[in-house]
Amino acid sequence: MGKTYIFGHKNPDTDSIISSLVMTEFEKRTGNAEVVACRLGMVNKETEYILNYVGIEAPELIEDLEDGEEVIIVDTANPGELIPNLENVKIKKIVDHHQVLLNTSYPVFYRAEPVGCTETIMYKLYKEHNLQIDKKIATLMLSAIISDTLLLKSPTCTEDDINAVKELSKIAEINYETYGMDMLKAGTDLSSFTIEQILALDAKAISLKDKKSIIAQVNTASIPEVMKMKSDLEAGMNKIINENGLDLFMLLITDIINSNTQTIALGNSANIVEKAYNVKLQDNTALLEGVVSRKKQVVPIMTENA
Ligand code: MN
Ligand code: MN
Repeated sequence: MGKTYIFGHKNPDTDSIISSLVMTEFEKRTGNAEVVACRLGMVNKETEYILNYVGIEAPELIEDLEDGEEVIIVDTANPGELIPNLENVKIKKIVDHHQVLLNTSYPVFYRAEPVGCTETIMYKLYKEHNLQIDKKIATLMLSAIISDTLLLKSPTCTEDDINAVKELSKIAEINYETYGMDMLKAGTDLSSFTIEQILALDAKAISLKDKKSIIAQVNTASIPEVMKMKSDLEAGMNKIINENGLDLFMLLITDIINSNTQTIALGNSANIVEKAYNVKLQDNTALLEGVVSRKKQVVPIMTENA
């Protein structure tokens, strides 16, 4: 039997990296020893903090795979966020918490739930298989849930996510509130990244009806701190708009302490932001009060107003 490669989306966030690691462990413990944890991009600072805390290596970086290889996909069901030859590999499983955008010509184990994080589903899978969760796995799982739900504060967060974090923090013997804040803060350190890297860290290509857009997000503990880079960020965004023929590049600078987002919006369709949030862009920027979740509070509203 060949190997099975396990990975999440491009521009991986903490959930994509951790889901790859945890799914790899899950597969090994349920009889599939030939599994390789992979990632489709660079590890961000928040994820790095978690991996160091737990003492575990990042998954292997890959760009593509040979045709015919077997894969398990986690934390996305969007072909545009995966390997280029996705149609020519064999998808064995998908575990995800996003909109279903992926089709196959053959049956697949598909587990999708509208919860805040893939790891909440993995937690359920461990329980359903009566698998003991050790301290390391518990720490990884709870870190991913904290990351995706911004410490249970995002509107994407469900009862299931909260219950999982409470249970997992007992196993991990971690005060999830203090640990979670340290972890999220570690993710706000952008000092070692270039402007191009900051704009790519958590960028998603999203079609707003017929408008081609990128909506990227960075977390911060201080919006003014990030806004110091505004002109450089705008130059970088304009470059990406021109190179990719985008209608809109929307950058979300999300304050993890106060749960607000300052957006910088550029491109011919930047006015969608004004319509969607009833704000005026001044110097290409506006404060979106209470907005933290791209999935729930940005993509649907921007699509509706496009
Ligand atoms: Mn993700
Ligand atoms: Mn996720």
